Amino acid sequence: MTRRLLPLETIRGLAGFGGAQRADGYVFQPTTVDEAREVLALAREAGRRVVLRGSGRSYGDAAIAREAVVLDLCAMNQVVGWDPSTGILEAEAGATLGDVWRRCLPDGWWPPVVSGTMFPTLGGALAMNIHGKNAYRVGTLGEHVRSIDVLPTDGGEVVRLGPSDSLFHSVVSGAGLAGLIVGVRLQLKKVPSGDVRVRGVSCSGWKDQFDAFDRYREDADYMVSWIDCFARGHARGRGLFHAAWYAEGPSATLLEAHQTLPSKVLGVVPKSETWRFLKLLNRRGCMRLVNAAKHAAGRIFEHGREGRQSLVAFSFLLDYVPGWERAYAPGGFIQVQTFVPAAEARRVFDEQIQMQQRAGLESFLGVMKRHRVDEFALSHGVDGYSLALDFKVTRANRARVEALADGLHKSALAAGGRFYLAKDTVLDGADYRLSIGDGLERLHKARERFDPDGILTSAQAERLGLL
Ligand SMILES: Cc1cc2nc3c(=O)[nH]c(=O)nc-3n(C[C@H](O)[C@H](O)[C@H](O)COP(=O)(O)OP(=O)(O)OC[C@H]3O[C@@H](n4cnc5c(N)ncnc54)[C@H](O)[C@@H]3O)c2cc1C
Repeated sequence: MTRRLLPLETIRGLAGFGGAQRADGYVFQPTTVDEAREVLALAREAGRRVVLRGSGRSYGDAAIAREAVVLDLCAMNQVVGWDPSTGILEAEAGATLGDVWRRCLPDGWWPPVVSGTMFPTLGGALAMNIHGKNAYRVGTLGEHVRSIDVLPTDGGEVVRLGPSDSLFHSVVSGAGLAGLIVGVRLQLKKVPSGDVRVRGVSCSGWKDQFDAFDRYREDADYMVSWIDCFARGHARGRGLFHAAWYAEGPSATLLEAHQTLPSKVLGVVPKSETWRFLKLLNRRGCMRLVNAAKHAAGRIFEHGREGRQSLVAFSFLLDYVPGWERAYAPGGFIQVQTFVPAAEARRVFDEQIQMQQRAGLESFLGVMKRHRVDEFALSHGVDGYSLALDFKVTRANRARVEALADGLHKSALAAGGRFYLAKDTVLDGADYRLSIGDGLERLHKARERFDPDGILTSAQAERLGLL
């Protein structure tokens, strides 16, 4: 059989968000389901595997694969239906969280679950089944989906799956390996205004941190905490906890004008240039001081105080600084987020913070969240906590960072922990498979149905042995 050649001009180098892993692929950006079918057919004729890609906001290698066809869904981004009386939105899979809130917030509805950035597509967000700062309360995004439309990779008819269909919980969370999501019907959350009330609690160590999560868990709509990963001794685990509640307020707060993030940081520096400043600071000595200063500022200005923030400012803090990831160039960075059952979390996180200090590779940013279990095949959910740590990668330290990440993963695994493919860059495949229970069998059942020729792949799936 002669294999069809793919156009060379479609070849592009792509990376994960962290920039630490890259691969060349043949990139196609369909605008309709039929065009997506054509790309799948082309890939089969060319004997190439296919990697699905949304906005490329996964940190590692989940949306890249070497010499594969990259099916980029970003141009299938229409909101095709919106009913403000029920809060149900219907959209193509390439619509982003930003597209969703812009359309629905003026009517008083907000996405039930959002990540720390508004750029992910719905398809990518559901393939990873994202969580937000309200995970302990409302679970993951997949728990709010009425149905998804899945295009089988053999080009067959689109299949609509709802939560009562057995394969739904495998396609959602299936890391792009269990079928191509082309459409989503999502239940949004009614909100009293476009603002949240945010209360700060300065924490002097782990005890304060866990006490704060326990104290606000029954009541707050959102909880998140920042950890100073440089603090040692009794101060280990110190940081700044925030709880937030949907707030009453005038309807003008629902408008985009109220939500839009300012174009200048501190009123002076254009947002687009801020990463250059961050790049100067982005070294161990400076970040130690930055973290200490942030802790001191939190204690003086935020402890016990309550303020108001727009939903966008509170939810998408990182989007304030577009391109902030470039501050880690040229080596990029990796994020290690481990999920640990509540009873073990304090011990494991303390151990992890000490491990990164002993290695002299302190994370420049530490973030803690509370979670709950869910039904999804490749679930990262535990009845417990997650700690996310960002590590700068350079040519000189890469091997040491990877060894550290391995140690952090193993400490979580030994405590019954889980891992999150959206954040993974360097997990050991055996560790992942041990953590996931019968998740892979469930994934493979969905693959048999929606990817019968097994053409869906990713560099991550190959690395972890998921196929
Ligand atoms: C700054 C930042 C903050 C973040 N904060 C959070 C957070 O708070 N909580 C959280 O849970 N995550 C968080 N994330 C991770 C992010 O939400 C997820 O990685 C999300 O999956 C990215 O969506 P994407 O559209 O960019 O997908 P991509 O990264 O492009 O792809 C992700 C996966 O989805 C697959 N895929 C893409 N489109 C489809 C489709 N249509 N059908 C089937 N599979 C598909 C891909 O093959 C890949 O495996 C954050 C990421 C960043 C960069």
